[in-house]
Amino acid sequence: MTADANTHLLLRSNLKQLRLPAMHAEFDKLAREAATANEGYEQYLLRLTELEVAARAGNAVQARIRAADFPVAKDFDTFDFTAVPGLNKPKMLELARGEWIEQRFNVCLIGSPGTGKTHVATALGLAACRQGKRVRFYTAAALVTRLEEAQKQYQLDRLLTQLDRTDLMICDELGYLSFSRVGAELLFQVFADRYERRSLLVTSNLAFSEWGQIFQGERMTAALLDRLTHRCHIFEMNSESFRFRESMKNKKSKKSD
Ligand code: ADP
Ligand code: MG
Repeated sequence: MTADANTHLLLRSNLKQLRLPAMHAEFDKLAREAATANEGYEQYLLRLTELEVAARAGNAVQARIRAADFPVAKDFDTFDFTAVPGLNKPKMLELARGEWIEQRFNVCLIGSPGTGKTHVATALGLAACRQGKRVRFYTAAALVTRLEEAQKQYQLDRLLTQLDRTDLMICDELGYLSFSRVGAELLFQVFADRYERRSLLVTSNLAFSEWGQIFQGERMTAALLDRLTHRCHIFEMNSESFRFRESMKNKKSKKSD
């Protein structure tokens, strides 16, 4: 084996052992480019390490998106703001920059079914993941079930600690189902715990005045709303259902076929 080939093999093996996969994959090509361009050693090493740094950042974002457990990957690029005239686009895009999460603010999206609440909640969550924030998406029903199960198995503290580590918790579809007394109390506890410490994004088909139905009892509801809405961006998304409109459009275009 030539000395060059030997160096090459050893370098491969070292980069692998050091867990530098991007450098492992690219050092060869970059070395040839550097030779052609008459690049210095430091310049070459800089370019190579930049690849590894970028790959790691990308992987970290992907890992955060997986951990967030979004139901579907919906982003702002596919959201048609003209379909929801009441929704302030500049304000929403400003929220996508994520400062509200650093300031421990909440977001509430209120509106009837099919108006894009889950879509917007997911898009804000994705933006937060890209900014390095830890996000967790739950439907209200799934979260309450999870809390009740954890309590039964004496694992509630553990779950609450886990939830507390997230910078943003999304609780989607509050109001479709009402909860048992215990379930409502557990959810209340999670929401109250986050007050002024961690952000919460809640979507609901019910106006705040109707939340008594979910939380059983005016006192708990008032206490909850007081905390949730104290530092909160509230959006009412009451347009015609996007789903409904799309299906009507499809029907019409089918008829004219
Ligand atoms: P909601 O959570 O309010 O019931 P969704 O966010 O699930 O509504 O929206 C229903 C469907 O319509 C989804 O596929 C969503 O991506 C789409 N949708 C809703 N509003 C818009 C919009 N303004 N632009 C693009 N797609 C939208
Ligand atoms: Mg929804």
